[in-house]
Order: sequence, then structure tokens, then C-alpha cells
Amino acid sequence: MPIYEYACDDCTETTEARRPMADADKPIACEHCHSTHTRRALSTFLTPASSRSDSPPSGPGCGCGNPHGPCGM
Ligand SMILES: [Zn+2]
Repeated sequence: MPIYEYACDDCTETTEARRPMADADKPIACEHCHSTHTRRALSTFLTPASSRSDSPPSGPGCGCGNPHGPCGM
């Protein structure tokens, strides 16, 4: 079962929850302030906080991240 992160709009803390994929977008209470103003955040494994979308994709070509050539898309 995947672990999802939820960012709290009230206290800006994140809450992690292990949930079925079917429940991923359902509301969850913040475990820090118990607010329900939470939004599902992307996994930190895929999007480190230091590299947001304002940095251009590295490498040539289609931007798929494969440095060794075209990805075939
Ligand atoms: Zn909170």
C-alpha cells in the first residue's frame, strides 16, 4: 500500500498516511493541528524540495531525463 503525503494549509506541516490508492485523494486530518485543510503532496522521493518546476529539464532532447539519447517518444 503506497504512502501519501498531505500538506496542511494551516500549519504547513506534512502528514504521511499509508492508504489504498482509491483513498489517495480523500480528505485527511492534519496530524499536527487536526485541520482538514490538507492537500495531497507529491512524493518527496520524486520531487525534492530544492528542485521545483522552475528549473528547466536537464539534458538534450525531449526532456525525459535520459542523458544517453532519445527516449523514443
Ligand atoms: Zn496542520
